[in-house]
Amino acid sequence: MEEIKKVRGFQDIYGENAEKYRYIVNTARKIFDKYNFKEIILPYVEDVSLFIRSVGEETDIVQKEMYTFKDKGGREIALRPEGTASVVRAYIENRIFAEGGYHKFFYEGAMFRYERPQAGRYRQFHQIGAELFGINNPLSDVEIISLVKDILDVLKIDTRLEINTLGSFEDRKIYIEELRKYLSEKKENLCEDCKKRLEKNPLRVLDCKVESCKDETKEAPKLYEYLSETSIKRYEEVKKYLKALDINFVENPRLVRGLDYYTDTVFEFITDKIGAQGTVAAGGRYDKLVEQLGGPPTPAVGFAAGIERLMLLVDELPQGEDLIAVIPINDEFNLLALKVANKLRKENLKVELILKTGSLKSKMKVANKLKSSYVIFVSDSYELKDMLTGSQIKYEDLNILVQTLKNS
Ligand code: ATP
Ligand code: MG
Repeated sequence: MEEIKKVRGFQDIYGENAEKYRYIVNTARKIFDKYNFKEIILPYVEDVSLFIRSVGEETDIVQKEMYTFKDKGGREIALRPEGTASVVRAYIENRIFAEGGYHKFFYEGAMFRYERPQAGRYRQFHQIGAELFGINNPLSDVEIISLVKDILDVLKIDTRLEINTLGSFEDRKIYIEELRKYLSEKKENLCEDCKKRLEKNPLRVLDCKVESCKDETKEAPKLYEYLSETSIKRYEEVKKYLKALDINFVENPRLVRGLDYYTDTVFEFITDKIGAQGTVAAGGRYDKLVEQLGGPPTPAVGFAAGIERLMLLVDELPQGEDLIAVIPINDEFNLLALKVANKLRKENLKVELILKTGSLKSKMKVANKLKSSYVIFVSDSYELKDMLTGSQIKYEDLNILVQTLKNS
């Protein structure tokens, strides 16, 4: 029979990669907890219009990358391409704002984008992310950046932090007109996408990865020169706090991010180690989005990191627990071995009951292959073999053996 293959752009994560995936998520979870962010578990599907209204009609995500379908009830559904829109929807729909104060959430899970698959770019990928609602001071921006930095540090991932400010929507309006004027004269040198962007959202041109577009935008007017004093002061504060925390950064005035909802601070953690898909974590402030989606005016800031890209950068997994292989010396002792294995597991030890039947030699082969630290041969007594030193000790009393293992 013909084999069925996975769908293009999707992948199976198993073996060491699955371990890396879990290690990254568990590390992030610990740090989210240290910063007292609370988990929010959201649907993988949303009404299509949520993303049109938040991510933006003219963005690549909405224009080209969304998985959409009609469900049996005729609803227009999208597999979520990102997390922020859903968190905002949930924040509004569940009236979380009504509790007052500010709120800090984190999430983890799959996102879907119909993109050209390549190293570090898939159609289903996974993100960890956090969002902070209800505060607009620079302190909250820095809190998010510092959280991401801590996660990357624990994972021993070396990155360059790039930051920029987009100012407020009002600041940006004048700038966008100037940019449009400037780029209109260079129109013939822009890529087809950017020709369209020029009309609807010229800011996107700054984000384009096509060389000719990059060249044409080099001398373009700088957003920085159009920012209000308030925005500039705010940006200076953010930089001051980052310096005080010894978080190194470089300013990149071209950094605009691929989504429409950002305001003021935007940032990316970038590596040169994994080719063109170098952004491992990215985020920023989005003070108008909650209102834009029907909630009360609520400032917010957040980030998302791609787990697959982090996986490419994690070289070493922390050493796991010692594995203890339990081997019945012959079938007569199978039941006893089963009991021994379960007793050790209840004592919080990690145990492989060697399931293979046959010669002792073939069972040892399995134990070796699994890199067991210890083997217990089960017969009328218990013989503990230390696989590193080769020493072998006989125990009559299982409890004493358990104590020995727990103390080792
Ligand atoms: P890029 O410029 O690489 O397309 P983006 O601006 O679309 O990234 P965001 O929407 O900000 O990315 O998503 C945040 C992070 O999610 C990215 O920095 C990246 O690590 C990861 N990511 C985005 N798209 C993919 C994908 N198709 N496959 C794997 N990871 C992805
Ligand atoms: Mg993208």
